[in-house]
Amino acid sequence: MKKLVVVTGASSGIGEAIARQLSAQGHPLLLLARRVEKLEALNLPNTLCEKVDVTDKHAFTAAILKAEQLFGEVDLLINNAGVMLLGQIDTQEPSEWKHMFDVNVIGLLNGMQAALAPMLERNTGTIINISSIAGKKTFPNHAAYCGTKFAVHAISENVREEAASANVRVITIAPGPVETELLSHTTSDDIKDGYENWKKDIGGALSADDVARTVMFAYNQPQNVCIREIAIAPTKQQ
Ligand code: NDP
Repeated sequence: MKKLVVVTGASSGIGEAIARQLSAQGHPLLLLARRVEKLEALNLPNTLCEKVDVTDKHAFTAAILKAEQLFGEVDLLINNAGVMLLGQIDTQEPSEWKHMFDVNVIGLLNGMQAALAPMLERNTGTIINISSIAGKKTFPNHAAYCGTKFAVHAISENVREEAASANVRVITIAPGPVETELLSHTTSDDIKDGYENWKKDIGGALSADDVARTVMFAYNQPQNVCIREIAIAPTKQQ
């Protein structure tokens, strides 16, 4: 049997597409999100679905231990859960900044801490962190979101260096716009409309499956090959 993979934020969008592709390759899965009913509705075989908010480190770790008892050790953790609340820095509600940093940064650190120690002991394993092109360059109304995704790049690269000698891979995937629920949580209609128009101008967004294929490509390299970072975006995006 293939090895256990943990996917956070698998209840929609990119995480759901990744879960489907991994399952089709025969991997047992631990899927995490708050909307557990959406995880269960995927109806994937050899899959444990747990209602976990990634900001809750205790719940995150407990879910991993439960899955390991069923399916063996975790070979891959995909930190995909994220929120994007676009806003102007002079008017945005500060609680939105905190929410993004809690989920996109602290949630990701929680996952890395839960999964990394056993990987270092076993001298194998892979962590894939979903960042963004907004973790490499800036965009209007993205200040706090870009801050979280630049942090994901920095954290990933730092941990990659620290884990490299133990044969553990840390991989950062940086997508451009992808057609998912992500934008829907932004509260400003003007900003949402502007974003939708920008997507049209660049010939449309990627699909979640485009990103999932990229994740599979990076993961399916031999363990001694670490694709450190992939940026994937619509061809017409600047
Ligand atoms: P979606 O909104 O479709 O999916 C986000 C996922 O994250 C959902 O499954 C959601 O599940 C989960 N999630 C959010 N908050 C939490 C939380 N506190 N605890 C656990 N799970 C949580 O968006 P995408 O699929 O687009 O986003 C996936 C990742 O891709 C994010 O990190 C995003 O920043 C990144 N990304 C997306 C791009 C895009 O244009 N769509 C571009 C570049 C990067 P639930 O609500 O059930 O908890």
